[in-house]
Amino acid sequence: MSEESKIRGQIAAVGRRLYDRGLSPGSSGNISVRLADGWLLTPTNSCLGELDPSSLSKLDWNGNLISGAKPSKEYFLHLAMYANRPQSGAIVHLHSSFAAAVSCLEGLDPTSCLPPITAYFVMRVGKLPLIPYFRPGDKSLAGEIAKLAGKHAAVLLANHGPVVSGRDLDSAMYAAEELEETSKLMLLLHGRNVRTLTTLEIQELRTVFNAEWES
Ligand SMILES: [Zn+2]
Repeated sequence: MSEESKIRGQIAAVGRRLYDRGLSPGSSGNISVRLADGWLLTPTNSCLGELDPSSLSKLDWNGNLISGAKPSKEYFLHLAMYANRPQSGAIVHLHSSFAAAVSCLEGLDPTSCLPPITAYFVMRVGKLPLIPYFRPGDKSLAGEIAKLAGKHAAVLLANHGPVVSGRDLDSAMYAAEELEETSKLMLLLHGRNVRTLTTLEIQELRTVFNAEWES
């Protein structure tokens, strides 16, 4: 089996898992993976639980379709992220309930939407900046992502949901799941006194695990 066919199968499997866990209701959410000769993206209006590996959209680096079904309308979010993160090989974008709920909160810190409450959030997701609201399909969103993607593996789109990149597809999926769980914890903790990790504890995660969390 070629490397590309293997990756196509992995995208369908990851889509199924995210759908089964209730993280991509309806036809929301999209998944992409960088290839040697372009990139693969889930098609427009597709349900992540029922992806056909052979009809995934294959695009070039200008966003043109090379083969497969019409790509997700949100293709440009992925392009902006890849262009500024050569180290990222895959991206998962979700409208998952808890992260989307956080994205609708008034008064978020735009440089860091979720505080460092667990080590795994710091290590897998890192500091999560907020991207202002834009209507679906507004390409200005790409420019906003481009400004932050160099320093952040994940961003939260206001009143929408997270865009999460990873070294490979598994890392991106795990980070998206971690982000969803952390969002859930924060909402569960709402109104309580929360102990966040200290600067020293975060420094230790940066040193020992190369966590990307700039103070
Ligand atoms: Zn979206």
